Amino acid sequence: MKKVYIETYGCQMNVADTEVVFSLLGREGYTRTESMDEADVILVNTCSVRDNAEQRIRGRIEQFQIHRRQRPGTVVGILGCMAGRLKDSLLETGKVDLVAGPDAYRSLPALLAAAATGQPQINVLLSREETYGDIAPVRLDKNGVSAFISIMRGCNNVCSYCVVPYTRGAERSRDFHSIVREACDCAAQGYREITLLGQNVDSYRYGDLDFAGLLALVADSVPALRIRFSTSNPQDISDAVLETMASRSNICRHIHLPVQSGSDRMLDKMRRRYTREQYLERVAKIRALMPDCALSTDVIAGFCSETEEDHRDTLSLFEQVGFDAAFMFQYSERPGTLAAKKYPDDVPPAVKTRRLEEVIALQNRLSLESNRRDVGKTFRVLVEGPSKRNGAELCGRNSQNKMCVWPDTQHRAGDFVDVDILDCTQATLLGRLA
Ligand code: SAM
Ligand code: SF4
Repeated sequence: MKKVYIETYGCQMNVADTEVVFSLLGREGYTRTESMDEADVILVNTCSVRDNAEQRIRGRIEQFQIHRRQRPGTVVGILGCMAGRLKDSLLETGKVDLVAGPDAYRSLPALLAAAATGQPQINVLLSREETYGDIAPVRLDKNGVSAFISIMRGCNNVCSYCVVPYTRGAERSRDFHSIVREACDCAAQGYREITLLGQNVDSYRYGDLDFAGLLALVADSVPALRIRFSTSNPQDISDAVLETMASRSNICRHIHLPVQSGSDRMLDKMRRRYTREQYLERVAKIRALMPDCALSTDVIAGFCSETEEDHRDTLSLFEQVGFDAAFMFQYSERPGTLAAKKYPDDVPPAVKTRRLEEVIALQNRLSLESNRRDVGKTFRVLVEGPSKRNGAELCGRNSQNKMCVWPDTQHRAGDFVDVDILDCTQATLLGRLA
């Protein structure tokens, strides 16, 4: 029986894809190993969103060569976005035996069998239909608490900086019957939380069912589970979605709403389909319907031609919204994107770094302020397991997706407990059992 080892980089979507790959290979008799040393097949599920992600993976491919020399016959394969972006050029390095894009995973068993005979294999065709809807993923979450459910693939937006529409192809929504079935399977297996995943969940549509309808259907089908979803796009998140959230207590009070920039000039150039004002209107609506809803965001510092004034607009938007958390990046030009073709990457690296540091410093303060507002409150927390620092403490997230830590030797992963918040750091709420 052949053993397969997979490393996963990038977003939650890639984690969900790796779970599908394990399932597809498991059907063909492959078993999963967490040790590269005993693997017959080494796969790496890759991310192309920023250059530094790709560089890290190139470093890993070099390390796999040592293993390849020590265990001749080991197949090394590249999956995911880098496979779709770099195609044959990956095989030409002679360092990999197989290249499979995000829509080609059903062909993996055949590709692996052929690669094992010494013939390099590639399939990077994108599909208009593939959703892997019929595949029951092999869950990677070690605690058996939280599961990802992919509800759609690809993206139809053309944000000018982003490579995803090229590597993952056109948007397609998964049959809701299979989504509900998967959610029910998670509940039956003892999972306590599911996250519905897509690049733009608000544009989900299957027949007459939109995302608000899907969210309601899933939440009502598995009332004992917590429901999360990601990612929402500011122009598409509808009142109906917000009303569905507000009317169901098992849908978590957290929205990840990437803003990318606080400057209208930058948003236009990024081809985001909203203005600063429209973004703020969505935030106001969210808070009017759900005053306890946490908001997180993504932002890019130093996009093409960004001025100090544009940058200050981003800082002021952060201040105005008071995000609870943020993923913050420097702009990284991606070959083939609209921005790479049309706009010079003209903000000097030192300026990008300085602006990013300013955004991070501001967000650190906002996160601390947000956490301080929670001191004195009580939250229902889903236990993930022991805290990293102290075996006599447990950690878990509240509905707002904030990490909580408290002394506890009674409960275990998967329990829901009420925690009184007594103190906080910028990253964590500290409490005791209520
Ligand atoms: N679909 C989601 C959305 O529209 O917000 C997220 C997609 S992307 C995988 C995650 C984040 O990476 C984006 O929100 C953006 O902030 C960042 N990102 C994408 N392309 C980038 C680039 N070329 N340089 C730096 N950051 C980038
Ligand atoms: Fe990329 Fe924009 Fe699609 Fe998100 S919505 S994946 S940023 S193109």
